[in-house]
Amino acid sequence: MFDTHIHLTEIEHEKLLKLLLRPDFRYISCGTDKKSIMAINELTAKYEHVYGALGIHPSYADDAEALDSIKELIRNNSKLIAIGEAGLDARYADMDRQIHIFEQQIILAEETGLPIIVHNVRTTDRLITLIERHPSPRYIIHGFSGSVETAKRLLLFDTYFGIGRTVTYGDARRLRSALSVIPQDRLLIETDDPYMDREDMENDLRKVLKDLADIVGKDQEEVEYITDRNAEEAFSL
Ligand SMILES: [Zn+2]
Repeated sequence: MFDTHIHLTEIEHEKLLKLLLRPDFRYISCGTDKKSIMAINELTAKYEHVYGALGIHPSYADDAEALDSIKELIRNNSKLIAIGEAGLDARYADMDRQIHIFEQQIILAEETGLPIIVHNVRTTDRLITLIERHPSPRYIIHGFSGSVETAKRLLLFDTYFGIGRTVTYGDARRLRSALSVIPQDRLLIETDDPYMDREDMENDLRKVLKDLADIVGKDQEEVEYITDRNAEEAFSL
C-alpha cells in the first residue's frame, strides 16, 4: 500500500517506528516548513520505502528562505520526488503572500519536472487560475473532496486526486459523485496523518482503501493494486 500523503516527521517516535516497520507499505512524507524538509531529507536516506515531497505549506507562507533549501536538497537526493505540500487555504491570512509562495513552488515544479502536491481549502478558482497559467506540471490534489464540476475542471490538466479520510465521513456524498467522473488511473490514497488520526494511524490507510473500494465497487486487493500502480506512475517511480 502506498500512502501518498503523510507527515512522518510530525509523528511521535514510538508510533513512527511502528509505521516504518510495517511490511509492504510505502510512504511519501510531505514537508511544510524548513524544519520538516530537513528531517524528511534524512528520513528518506534511512528508510528505503520512504520518499519525500518538499514544500512550504500555506500556513508557513512567510518562510520564503525554505525555498532555497528545497532547491538545494532536491538536486542532491533522488528520493525527493515531489514539490509540496504547497497551495492555498482561505482560512489563513494574506492570500497574496500565499499565492506568491505557491507560484514560486509551481515554477520549481516546472523547472525540475517534479509533480506538485497541492493543498486547496476553499480556493479552487484561484488554484485553477494558477494551473491555467502553468499548465505543464503534474498536479496532485491532496485530500480531494470537491464536486463533479471541480473534478471535471481539474481533469483538463495532468492531475491526480489524493483520496483520504473524507471518503469515510457521513458528508462525503459530494465526493462520491465526483468519484464517478474521475478515471480510476488518477486515484491515489493518503492519510495526512498525524493530522487526520492521531490514535489509530496503523489502520488509517486500510480504512481509506476499504471505503474507496466500497464506493467504486471493487474489492480491496484490486483497489490496492490500482492505487499502488497509480502512485508509481504519478511520481515516476
Ligand atoms: Zn498534509
